[in-house]
Amino acid sequence: LPGTVDVLVIGAGAAGLMCASVAGKRGRSVLVLDHANKVGKKILMSGGGRCNFTNLYTSPDNFYGVNPHFCKSALARYTQWDFIALVEKHGIPYHEKTLGQLFCDNSSRDVVDLLLSECREARAQVRTRCEIQRIEPLQVKGFEVHTSLGRVVCESLVIATGGLSIPTMGATGFGYEIARQFGHNIIPTRAALVPFTLNKRALARQQELPGTSLAVNASCALGHFHEQMLFTHKGLSGPAVLQISSHWKEGMPVTFDLAPGLNLSGWLTEQRGKKQESFLHTVLAELWSKKLVQFLLQRNALQSKPLKQYGDGELRDLGEKLQTWTLIPEGTEGYRTAEVTLGGVNTDEVSSRSMESMKQPGLYFIGEVLDVTGWLGGFNFQWAWASAHAAGGEV
Ligand code: FAD
Repeated sequence: LPGTVDVLVIGAGAAGLMCASVAGKRGRSVLVLDHANKVGKKILMSGGGRCNFTNLYTSPDNFYGVNPHFCKSALARYTQWDFIALVEKHGIPYHEKTLGQLFCDNSSRDVVDLLLSECREARAQVRTRCEIQRIEPLQVKGFEVHTSLGRVVCESLVIATGGLSIPTMGATGFGYEIARQFGHNIIPTRAALVPFTLNKRALARQQELPGTSLAVNASCALGHFHEQMLFTHKGLSGPAVLQISSHWKEGMPVTFDLAPGLNLSGWLTEQRGKKQESFLHTVLAELWSKKLVQFLLQRNALQSKPLKQYGDGELRDLGEKLQTWTLIPEGTEGYRTAEVTLGGVNTDEVSSRSMESMKQPGLYFIGEVLDVTGWLGGFNFQWAWASAHAAGGEV
């Protein structure tokens, strides 16, 4: 390792590599260290292997954090359009999948290669398989960092070690420990963008359903999302569930509107006028799969009869029952499968312009380690790019 550098970045993920390239291009000597055996592991597995690298509609409203204003400055100074320009500069083919989500046509590898190529251009060095043992502030300015590969002295130290999700991919609480070492507060962390688990009884009821998906409106606390829900062997997943999981805390009910945009009671009354002899389950199969209809009828202890046999009140009642499903998840799949970590380094103690610590000059926090968490859909990477760019211009 070089004994002295201007900037030492810990964590060669999305934010760390981006920050290194920006700082290097300003003429700073930069070293990036990561304990994993290769860089950007989460980028590689992201977006089902195609990396949803940003979102066309990114705005501060797509982020959670105790201080919702913190992310505004960095997001405004490095936008989705800036990252798209970088993707285009590297000739990476991409497409919009849905809701403004941009994915690589080929592979997430393209994004890792982009970052490494930018780092090479900026003469930033990247080293993997390096354990960080100890960080000591120097008396006047800078830090001495002890690692398994030797000792490095740096002027600026950037913590880009991400959140706690997917420990098998190298996630650790290291960033929080360093933050605490320098007197920072940590907003309690929680797995987010994560599937729900259900109790045994609920799972037994839905044992025919794993693999079934449908569009729903999911609501919990102040969150509402209109996206797909998927039944799994452990509970519920799909974009609607991942999104709403960011609003959920243990014991809270979650409500799914299973026929969004439709008034099911009104629709059934209309159908009764047209198809008097048709059975309820046959008519419902126009909206949902047969298995789902079966499940919903059983769950509500409803018999399927010809529509003409239902009175107005009865039809209104069963329409409401079938349309709205409220349940209390047993839990979530936790950090093992969560895409992100809610909470993190308290942003009230970090500059929103530069990401520099207000407690320790020369110390910076970027990416997911901060208490800034995006929705599903490319927003978490956009935060990694934007916060890294903000710090990269200052370190
Ligand atoms: P990371 O990219 O996690 O990088 C942190 C780096 O720090 C890692 O390389 C790690 O090895 C290293 N590190 C950790 N601890 C130490 C230590 N003690 N010493 C040295 N190095 C250390 N977001 C999107 O926007 N779009 C998506 O499509 C998307 N898909 C995802 C799919 C999955 C399965 C997961 C888990 C996440 C996904 N995300 C997605 C979220 C996104 O990957 C993260 O928000 C983003 O990678 C955060 O960037 P980061 O640089 O802060 O942290």
